[in-house]
Amino acid sequence: MALPILNTPEFETTIPSTNQKINFRPFLVKEEKILFMALQGNDPSEMSTAVQRVLESCITTPGIDVGLFATFDIEYLFLKLRAKSVGEVIDLKLRHNTGDCTYIHQHSLNIDDINVVIPDDLDNKIQITDHVGIVLKFPSIEIASKLPQDNNMDSLIDLIAGCVDVVYDSDKVYEDFSREEIKTFLESLNGPQFTKIRDFFKRVPKLSHDIEWTCPKCGETEKIHLEGLASFFM
Ligand SMILES: [Zn+2]
Repeated sequence: MALPILNTPEFETTIPSTNQKINFRPFLVKEEKILFMALQGNDPSEMSTAVQRVLESCITTPGIDVGLFATFDIEYLFLKLRAKSVGEVIDLKLRHNTGDCTYIHQHSLNIDDINVVIPDDLDNKIQITDHVGIVLKFPSIEIASKLPQDNNMDSLIDLIAGCVDVVYDSDKVYEDFSREEIKTFLESLNGPQFTKIRDFFKRVPKLSHDIEWTCPKCGETEKIHLEGLASFFM
């Protein structure tokens, strides 16, 4: 005999980088299993693959490609998903680590208080010379996850090449170019021109939150800066 089908509610949220509204359902036991296994592995790239897979299953708006989302979009959406699936409050254990005091403080963090702030003056259009410029995209999870962790110049150029949306000059906008062509173009820049591009990536928004708390045992005030998805689930 067929068992009854359970209805799951749907919620709406906004993708930070594009302001597009999307719908999602909470994650279910089958998805929690994927996340739990990834958490135990303690491998950041495995964790981000698991988060991506769960988002793919839970976003109900058709035609959405999670692989193209900016990394901070993924982190933000995952927190929203967690809020509707497990609860809006994350319980953090914060240890006071100054001097002899090792007091452990229970902090309740409301997910709705965590935001992604995109600086108003962050311009994705970079003027390279008087006539030539480029328009950049935020790194997607697909691009970011393919990068080796080391910070060498080759992987930086690779990352940037994957994020160039268009190149333009006074006459024309170039949208159709190969990865090799754009890498050659980037390698032909001089130091100050390349720095302008690099500065954009340094300022890509991150999911972050500051917590200030006063230790009831010794009376000192502590400040903590949480950044990146993993820090919210320590
Ligand atoms: Zn203390």
